[in-house]
Amino acid sequence: MKFNQTIGWGLAVGLLGSSALAAIGWSRLDEYKSGVIWPEPPMVTPGGSSDSALRLPPADAIVLFDGTNLDAWVGGDRWEIKDGYAITRQTDIFTKQGFGDCQLHIEFATPEKIEGEGQGRGNSGVYFMDQYEVQVLDSWNNPTYFDGQAGSVYKQSPPIVNASREPGQWQEYDIVFTAPRFREDGSLKSPAYLTVFHNGVLVQNHFELTGKTLWDAAPFYASHPEKMPIKLQFHGNETRFRNIWVRENVHNMVGTAPQ
Ligand code: MG
Repeated sequence: MKFNQTIGWGLAVGLLGSSALAAIGWSRLDEYKSGVIWPEPPMVTPGGSSDSALRLPPADAIVLFDGTNLDAWVGGDRWEIKDGYAITRQTDIFTKQGFGDCQLHIEFATPEKIEGEGQGRGNSGVYFMDQYEVQVLDSWNNPTYFDGQAGSVYKQSPPIVNASREPGQWQEYDIVFTAPRFREDGSLKSPAYLTVFHNGVLVQNHFELTGKTLWDAAPFYASHPEKMPIKLQFHGNETRFRNIWVRENVHNMVGTAPQ
């Protein structure tokens, strides 16, 4: 649809030759900015060290990557596996299994050698249901928009604090995701929520998402299945991942009232 819209605008611009209209037309491809002015998340040095980041999967976890292969992922054969970690290559990858509400553990390391700046440093992302991104980025002395730095819900919520380790160090996210619910008519019944710990430090506290996280459009919800793949983003940077697991037993028990 966007492609057709763009062509349509392009034709209109060509016919009318109006630079004002051109500005309006091409703005459809521009970056979306919320306009919210956020304070800068303060730096908080996490405890432990890069080597202590490894948190082994509990017995009821579904292991998505144990360092040996990416068989649980569509596109996983395109990424490189080396020394127990995976390196982003060529394409986004998607879990073959769909997930809704879940707890996810994932470890990542941005390139040790600093190249690029802002969104171009160690960019990747953990997308729940292929649409709700927790940003992965090298946010060590690397200014960018706050709602796009590591630990942000992309373009919606900056991390409460910046708990990043230095480039090349192993870091971890522990994430609790609540999937949105939709009514039969496709309208939103309840929104998605994200709670995120970055290197053991709380950076998102039951944040209510306003929709899918996009670069070029404001967030919005579009009805989708109850379970969908988790996606890891390829953004042109060599970001590494290891020790990825997920749990689906995340709902509080419902008891009976005392008699
Ligand atoms: Mg990203």
